[in-house]
Amino acid sequence: MAESEKSMIFTAIIPCYNEEENVPDIYTEILKNEEYFKAHDIELELLYVDDGSRDKTVLEVKKLIEKDSRVHLVSFSRNFGKEAAIFAGLENSRGDFVALMDADLQDPPSLLPQMFDEIISGEFDCVATRRVSRKGEPPIRSFFARCFYRLMHKISKTDIVDGARDYRLMTRAMVDSILSMREYNRFSKGILGWDGFKTKWLEYENIERVKGETKWSFWGLFKYSLEGIMGFSTAPLGMASVLGIFFTFVAFIAIIFIIIRTMVFGDPTSGWPSLACIIIFMGGIQLFCVGVLGQYLSKVYLEVKNRPIYIVKERL
Ligand code: UDP
Ligand code: MG
Repeated sequence: MAESEKSMIFTAIIPCYNEEENVPDIYTEILKNEEYFKAHDIELELLYVDDGSRDKTVLEVKKLIEKDSRVHLVSFSRNFGKEAAIFAGLENSRGDFVALMDADLQDPPSLLPQMFDEIISGEFDCVATRRVSRKGEPPIRSFFARCFYRLMHKISKTDIVDGARDYRLMTRAMVDSILSMREYNRFSKGILGWDGFKTKWLEYENIERVKGETKWSFWGLFKYSLEGIMGFSTAPLGMASVLGIFFTFVAFIAIIFIIIRTMVFGDPTSGWPSLACIIIFMGGIQLFCVGVLGQYLSKVYLEVKNRPIYIVKERL
């Protein structure tokens, strides 16, 4: 066999946080594509990243490892978050092609052959998925999600696609580019858009989680969206200057108004309630702006510490 025809390795990275019920299911689902993989000379590698689960996730993965040598495990010392799990997965993958997929089967493995067909053609560096509906999601959550994407579109140059899932198949070149971004505050929806590799989008209807529960609370998602805004836009920092200029202008008009009024009507000493309102209002704006600065500063602080993104307890 010629050197160029040697089989390709495909790594599926599966971040798991308390997913004991889903670990065997996703394995079975991915293996349903085995015929396709064989036909295209693709060697499979399944990499489970256990993000400090407190249930039997690790045990379930170990059971799989015992019967199938293609299964691997990286287990964290505690919960570091999905972003860290993705990074660890990419760092520990060997594949020429690498896919990220959720353990909960919301990222249908049946799409893999279609994704491979696209990427093997060589036209794209990445085949990503986008859900076109938010079926099964609380309406209020969808509403805020939409607002977030609209805002991001306005204030960030990075292309952050609405409905984009982390489920994607990438070439080694793209994986290496992501690994070169070693920031501590990771927001992969942004990182994956920032690197500029050519992406093909596949669209599908939202699929609801089969077993277990989502790890996202509303508050968690809110904080995650702030992460995205601060990671990929400095617009909030500029806001203080804009507000400053605006209020200086307002104050200037007000001064002229008061001078003229005093000259025309004399000087009644009324007006302290409005003064109190103005002081409280300005105090609020100033604190808000200092708060925005503080948020960015805290991110810088965490980056400068240069701590590892994750800590491995066990590797199999
Ligand atoms: N996950 C993780 N660490 C976390 C939270 C989630 O590795 O701290 C994994 C989780 O096990 C799942 C994927 O990330 O495989 C997506 O999580 P989830 O289904 O809760 O998110 P959703 O689909 O609701 O956005
Ligand atoms: Mg899910």
